Amino acid sequence: MGGEKKVTPWNFYYCPYILRTGEVCNQRCYNPKGCKVYRDSRQVACKESGCKEMTRSKYDYCDTHAKKHRLKEHYHQKKLAKQADGPKEIPLK
Ligand SMILES: [Zn+2]
Ligand SMILES: [Zn+2]
Repeated sequence: MGGEKKVTPWNFYYCPYILRTGEVCNQRCYNPKGCKVYRDSRQVACKESGCKEMTRSKYDYCDTHAKKHRLKEHYHQKKLAKQADGPKEIPLK
C-alpha cells in the first residue's frame, strides 16, 4: 500500500448554453450543465412545435409564443371564472 494520491480524472464538458446570437457558448466547464456563467440560467427550447427558439421564460416558450400562450391562459381563466358563477353549492361543513 502506498500513499498514492487520488487522482480525480479531469472531466470537462463543453457548455451547451446557446447565446442570444444563436451560437453555442462552448466553453470548457466542469459541469455538464454549462460554464459557471450560464449554469444557473435555466434554458429550454420553446415548446411550440417547429419553433427552435431557446428561452429562459418560465412558460417554456420563447417571447413570441409566451405572449400567445399567456393570452390564451388568461382567456381560459376568464372562462373558468364564468363557469364558477353557476348555481352555488352550499359548502359542507
Ligand atoms: Zn458557457
Ligand atoms: Zn417559440
